[in-house]
Amino acid sequence: MPHRAKKRLGQNFLVDSNVIAKIIDSVNPQDRDHIIEIGPGLGALTRPLLQRVDRLDVIELDRDLLPELRKLDVHAKLCVHNNDVLEFDFTRFRQSNFAHDKLRLIGNLPYNISTPLLFQLMNHRASIQDMHFMLQKEVVERMCASVGAHDYGRLSVMMQLHFETIPLFTVAAECFKPTPKVESAVVRLIPRVDLAIANDQLADFSGLVRQAFSQRRKTLKNTLRGLCDTNLLEAAGIDSSKRPQQLTVQEFIALFHQFSRKT
Ligand code: SAM
Repeated sequence: MPHRAKKRLGQNFLVDSNVIAKIIDSVNPQDRDHIIEIGPGLGALTRPLLQRVDRLDVIELDRDLLPELRKLDVHAKLCVHNNDVLEFDFTRFRQSNFAHDKLRLIGNLPYNISTPLLFQLMNHRASIQDMHFMLQKEVVERMCASVGAHDYGRLSVMMQLHFETIPLFTVAAECFKPTPKVESAVVRLIPRVDLAIANDQLADFSGLVRQAFSQRRKTLKNTLRGLCDTNLLEAAGIDSSKRPQQLTVQEFIALFHQFSRKT
């Protein structure tokens, strides 16, 4: 029986061989890399990855897809984890015997879980070398947006704090089956080695950014009322009449440091 795509699991399978080749070329897998594929589905990316690497871990929630995936494993290289990636313990890979300890993540992600997954992966950045993800085009645009752009917001600040975000190419809806209603794009994410915010302060930083963007049309003086006054904004070198989308990531960091000094 052919597999019937499940909408609730975001099952839009890649069927365009040129796009598949372009993604694999962008990743440029080396045989000793420790690659984790999220949501392998029917194996569109898994198959070419298996030709390049010594071992591949994949995380797939849909158990109906497991027999198809296991058929791909002719050389006993594939390790299938039948888990929800949002609950997956990535620290279990720490004890691996791979030459390159750090993980390389790849996935044509189910769009409904992409934002929570990206936030979850921020916590694992120290053990990640890079990530290549296919996402809804608008999400890639938001995460890579420059200060002042209409789509610059909380996702842009939080992602750019943690990662270098590099948009690679867009992918038309016709390259998938079933065809999704939206366009897609592939992005490369490289974790930043030294984060400007200490680990135990990230939740507070995230709270400040969330509040700043809670009312995009208002000035910082108003949106941050109760948290930061005009003096504090000015001490951080920030004009309090600016709107949140006019603040660079560096300015958010400076504001947060000033704010933490006060509290
Ligand atoms: N990689 C395949 C391809 O490119 O054709 C499939 C991509 S499809 C967009 C997303 C895949 O993620 C599906 O196989 C789906 O079952 C799986 N998936 C959905 N939610 C998941 C979750 N929470 N954890 C792990 N896998 C999930």
